[in-house]
Amino acid sequence: MILKLIMLGIALIAIYKFMGGSISLPGKKKSNDNVDSDALEECETCGIYVTKKESVIVKGKLYCSKECIPI
Ligand SMILES: [Zn+2]
Repeated sequence: MILKLIMLGIALIAIYKFMGGSISLPGKKKSNDNVDSDALEECETCGIYVTKKESVIVKGKLYCSKECIPI
């Protein structure tokens, strides 16, 4: 009887580990954030789409380059 319970426990742990390994949300969320930084944003002045890395943000508005920032 005890042996059966131990076997059941091992089986449950194996299933739990299998599920956790395939889902693993925390690791995947971090990689999604990196993808978001490559997402295209529209320039406020000329409408060109640029990645957030390349863009210039002034007063909460996004521009493709310094030339598009209104003075
Ligand atoms: Zn622009």
